Amino acid sequence: MRVLIVGGAGYIGSHVCKALAARGDEPVVFDNLSRGHDHAVQWGPLVRGDIRNAEELDAAFEAHQPAAVMHFAANIEVGEGQKEPLAFWDNNVAGVVSLLQAMKRAGCSSLVFSSTCATYGTPQSLPLTEDEPQTPINVYGRTKLAVEQLLADVSSAEDLRYAALRYFNASGASPDGEIGEEHDPETHLIPNALKAAAGLGGPMKLFGTDYDTADGTCERDFIHVMDLAAAHLAALDRLLSGAGSFQCNVGTGTGYSVKAVLDTVERVTGLPVPHDIHGRREGDPPRLYADVTRSRQLLDFQPQYSDLETIIRDAWNFHRIAWGVEAVKTG
Ligand code: UDP
Repeated sequence: MRVLIVGGAGYIGSHVCKALAARGDEPVVFDNLSRGHDHAVQWGPLVRGDIRNAEELDAAFEAHQPAAVMHFAANIEVGEGQKEPLAFWDNNVAGVVSLLQAMKRAGCSSLVFSSTCATYGTPQSLPLTEDEPQTPINVYGRTKLAVEQLLADVSSAEDLRYAALRYFNASGASPDGEIGEEHDPETHLIPNALKAAAGLGGPMKLFGTDYDTADGTCERDFIHVMDLAAAHLAALDRLLSGAGSFQCNVGTGTGYSVKAVLDTVERVTGLPVPHDIHGRREGDPPRLYADVTRSRQLLDFQPQYSDLETIIRDAWNFHRIAWGVEAVKTG
């Protein structure tokens, strides 16, 4: 089966391509390479194009005739969204309008969409179920919620079925070190902690030690990108088997604190993580972790790689190659 992977040169999209190819499917990447990397496109053709360009999209659908589409081509950096809302609404929302129009012209009616736990904002109750009110607190989360609403509207009027997967904290890398997280600038906790451990770029900034949590730092639900990729394949299969549209969390159900992450980085790398304590980062909810009931029911989803140690070991394995870090002690 051929699948159009919009944004397939990025972190999560490239892992999904690899997983599709491993089971014999054919990923076709459509990406403008504004944030993605052509070296991450290894499991099928790369079509360079922009989702806001109808002609480029039509040409890709015409040439490759995909059975379904997966969408990863979004601006994701929360702080950037606060400064550049127009760019976020243009790419993340207008881009999906353009993609849906092209899918309609091509007669392609199945879409797996990357949503986020950021659509919930600061949770009223934990673990977070899919029925939690969606009240995002930043531009990024609002653009993703807008697309969920757009998809609901279009699917009730047109021939569209979709899965909106609300990811928690995507992390880790392909265990063979082939692909991993390569954001520039990098704002995420685990790569930043590894960078500090490797002695690159100075001490890490630890944002907030006065939260009402067990150790005072924020708690997050880290999901290994391999598990995330498996959830996408399961969502795709569910849609293609004729099931109706659905929204679903993808997490593990367990929260780990920022301090627990730093401790694990030290244990896995055998290196200290130099860090400075800073005030809270704006817009960080103290605790986020998923209720996983629906992902178990709909996708038969059971994370295989998402214990913190495996996540950090795989991320380190990827980064130390990418950064050329020689001395590695493992604990
Ligand atoms: N964090 C940190 N220093 C960093 C990056 C992140 O202390 O350099 C903290 C951040 O404040 C949050 C947690 O780590 O409490 C996870 O942040 P990340 O950006 O990785 O993911 P988010 O939960 O925002 O999607």
